[in-house]
Amino acid sequence: MSDLTDVLSTSAAMGELPSLSPYRDGNVGIPYVLSYAASDPGPHVLLAAIVHGNEICGAIALDRLLRSQLRPARGRLTFAFANPEAYQRRDGGAAAPSRYLDEDMNRVWSPAQLAGKGRSAELRRARQLRPVVDSADYLLDIHSMQQGDEPILLSGPLDKGRRLALALGFPSMVVSDAGHVSGTRLRDYGAFGDPARPQNAVLVECGPHDSWASTEVAVETTLRFLEQVGSIRPPAPRSDGFRSRGPSRLIVVTQAVTASSPRFRFTGRFSGLERIPKAGTVIAHDGEKAIATPYDDCVLVMPADRCQPGQTAVRLGRVHS
Ligand SMILES: [Zn+2]
Repeated sequence: MSDLTDVLSTSAAMGELPSLSPYRDGNVGIPYVLSYAASDPGPHVLLAAIVHGNEICGAIALDRLLRSQLRPARGRLTFAFANPEAYQRRDGGAAAPSRYLDEDMNRVWSPAQLAGKGRSAELRRARQLRPVVDSADYLLDIHSMQQGDEPILLSGPLDKGRRLALALGFPSMVVSDAGHVSGTRLRDYGAFGDPARPQNAVLVECGPHDSWASTEVAVETTLRFLEQVGSIRPPAPRSDGFRSRGPSRLIVVTQAVTASSPRFRFTGRFSGLERIPKAGTVIAHDGEKAIATPYDDCVLVMPADRCQPGQTAVRLGRVHS
């Protein structure tokens, strides 16, 4: 490993997005997938970025770690740029990467969909990635958020996911949720979503899409994750306070509110993690229907300021003590 500390302390201004062309051929026969094995046995850890092509912090973080020659001390470490086509798309006058080309790539991860007749760009890419996902013991899936500043770990609904997310200690906010009615997330796919199997996954929402801080969160979370699961030795301590955050807090999502009308509107400007004291407080209107909080001290998780019918508008959760 070269001097990782130099790379980690880089504080460049938000500039050009990294080109993914050096990674196009990959090194295991799958484009934009790079995998490295240590001589000592250990887990296969998969780092996934740009499952949503516009969530650039993961691409910047993985590019930085690859250029720093980060390698596993044990087992295998795989870097996957999940949807490079969406990331690289600049047509239609778009100045920024696209979230996806045909459909949300984080809703296609069920065996039935992957084996089905769908021919979207995202399904084709998911099928390419599937062997590497199937062979991973651990997955960190790196995302960013439409709104809200506080980074969060999404642990999934199972105890094993919660335990791993809480053990990371950064970001300190852990949200346990079951995903979306519109399709299965990568973090819930296959063995990751099976309580009887040891494979485990965490999704990190690093902060706003276009904030440089989100990249720092992505790098720090990645290193903590690799350390936690035994892939790398502990990196040098940092001086910027990242390592002293905590303690972790857990919010358990009890329900997701799925928009059923094109006229879904919140009653106020919510950016996420607001705690609504009283049950029955109306937080949104879905067409004619009022959406009210079901219990006291209800926490709003990741409200979407624009959502289509069938999409998750907000999740509702309780603080777990
Ligand atoms: Zn995302």
